[in-house]
Amino acid sequence: KTAVVLFTRDLRVRDNPALAATCANAERVVPLFVFDPKLQELSANRAKFLHEALADLRDTLRDKGADLVVRRGDPVAETIKVAREVHAEGIALAADVSNYARRRQRDLERECEKHRIALRSFPGVTVVDPGAVQPGGSSDHYKVFTPYHRSWAASKWRDEVATPRRITLPDGLAVGRMPAQPKGESPDAATGGETAGRRRFSTWLDHIGQYDDLHDDMAADRTSRLSPYLRFGCVSPLAVANAARDKGGAGAEAFVRQLAWRDFYYQVTNAFPAISTRAYRKSGDHDWRSDDDALQHWQNGLTGVPVVDAGMRQLRAEGWMHNRARLLTAALLTKHLGVDWRPGVQWFFRWLLDGDVANNSGNWQWTAGTGNDTRPYRRFNPIRQAERYDPDGVYVRRYVPELASVEGKAVHQPWRLPDDVRRGLDYPAPLESHRDEAVWLRP
Ligand code: FAD
Repeated sequence: KTAVVLFTRDLRVRDNPALAATCANAERVVPLFVFDPKLQELSANRAKFLHEALADLRDTLRDKGADLVVRRGDPVAETIKVAREVHAEGIALAADVSNYARRRQRDLERECEKHRIALRSFPGVTVVDPGAVQPGGSSDHYKVFTPYHRSWAASKWRDEVATPRRITLPDGLAVGRMPAQPKGESPDAATGGETAGRRRFSTWLDHIGQYDDLHDDMAADRTSRLSPYLRFGCVSPLAVANAARDKGGAGAEAFVRQLAWRDFYYQVTNAFPAISTRAYRKSGDHDWRSDDDALQHWQNGLTGVPVVDAGMRQLRAEGWMHNRARLLTAALLTKHLGVDWRPGVQWFFRWLLDGDVANNSGNWQWTAGTGNDTRPYRRFNPIRQAERYDPDGVYVRRYVPELASVEGKAVHQPWRLPDDVRRGLDYPAPLESHRDEAVWLRP
């Protein structure tokens, strides 16, 4: 019996339900990845991370006696071609929620039926399957996080699956060459792969006890930075959540709660797949301004609000940004500058290694007040936030070298410095708010 495992964003061998079930049921297994050029064009950073993750997966599969078979082109057509070539009886893949993933699965179903191949989809992209916990009543998904989190934490999670020991490829199948390693755009981006992801997690787990206290401290940089590894499935979200739960304590609990936020947005996206282009809460989607000049200043980290500029520059340098900075940068664009959230989504999506339809758009909509926030009119005061979460200005000075000479928290409001000092800084004055509400600029 021969079967194909189509890897998509589950680029690991440990706790991979699609791979484990296939290896348990078939003698010969084709671990397959299909490069879809259309997807890789969206982000040079993610293309590079993906490439590294695949190279790592290939090495691991080789250690197990197999290999990673790669093809380039339309994922459905290429998968069917490989399956027919090896006379596969089945194809397995991880279920996913984006429009792209659903279309892929639908088209695969149709083609598999035509060629009498069994298609099975498996969990593994989230801790708890989207749709597995339901609010009851007429709604098919949770619109609010707190009740979702309660049901999520109390639900029965699936058991982790064993890692296959040996994998046997069918004879005579061309493995295919990996494309050249893409360059990426961010010089300080993390390296992709299951090996790197597991290493990062095991080192970080020793510090999980501090997570509750330090996860908002931008300078301390003590969050896990696992998001790109979770994005590509280099680590299993369930295994990560179980390991954290085993540690116990307030830090672990706070961390596991963040994984529930991730699952929360998957179940929202599952119910509302247009999340990256259409407002979830229509009433919130009002009269956005289109202001290319403001947008460009924001993209380039030149808004004149230091904490925001630091975040935007961290994004470019690392392909990652601290969560608190993501909130403040997104809030400045939407709530202070009044610019539509959609160009913000796209800019983040280009740079983020963890860039992902559900979490990027879900969080953007939350911040813009069009999403799943019970207080859509909330406003962040970026200066108060900066003083609270970067009290000594260390985060700002790390990413905005023009302000390196300004000591302490004065760095958060350079417009208050004496004229002669300010003129020597080569740093812009803050962009004006679209409404007369930039209270943080007033004396
Ligand atoms: P940790 O604090 O260590 O948290 C552990 C994990 O929990 C993260 O890796 C992530 O998978 C999950 N998580 C944490 N916070 C959130 C959250 N608010 N929503 C959903 N999941 C969360 N996260 C993405 O994975 N992809 C995105 O494209 C993305 N875009 C965002 C855009 C905006 C405007 C905002 C405000 C947040 C966005 N986030 C996104 C959520 C969050 O900022 C990142 O997941 C987090 O900063 C990743 O760092 P970490 O791995 O160190 O997180």
